[in-house]
Amino acid sequence: MSAAPTTVQTGVVVGIYYTLRDAEGQEIDSNRKGGKPLAFLVGAGNILPGLEKALIGKSKGDLVKAEVPPAEGYGEPRDELLEPVPRTAFPPDVDIKPGMQFQGTSQDGRAIPIKVARVEGDTVTIDKNHPLAGQTLFFEVTISGVRTATAEETQHGHPHGPGGHHH
Ligand code: ZN
Repeated sequence: MSAAPTTVQTGVVVGIYYTLRDAEGQEIDSNRKGGKPLAFLVGAGNILPGLEKALIGKSKGDLVKAEVPPAEGYGEPRDELLEPVPRTAFPPDVDIKPGMQFQGTSQDGRAIPIKVARVEGDTVTIDKNHPLAGQTLFFEVTISGVRTATAEETQHGHPHGPGGHHH
């Protein structure tokens, strides 16, 4: 029986409050305002690799600033994720313009954001890259808790309970 973990390390469950900003300091996302902490299992790929790396070795209550480059974030934009589709795939009453965003569906049924990259005649080129691809991300994280993962959580590869996975 090992002692309860006090620092962020592989195999423990960590709760965080975070604010994510872009290079201009603009807030992109945050769970600080009345939200529950986000829970993740360290080493299971639950969060961005660059963010997890910055939290390793930190303790409950620590404030961590992490600058995450695209390679450890959402990656660089990839040309193969630009796809030409017929204009008829879009609502006829909408004036399709570059930069417009639609909700699409991936082949396995997940909702994915789709951005219009170009419009040329009857062909619309859509961009299926993650909206944050190519961006350096600036996180400010407060570690709200560190605890031992249950055997079930370790087996599933994600935390259960508040801020975690619900089945
Ligand atoms: Zn589970």
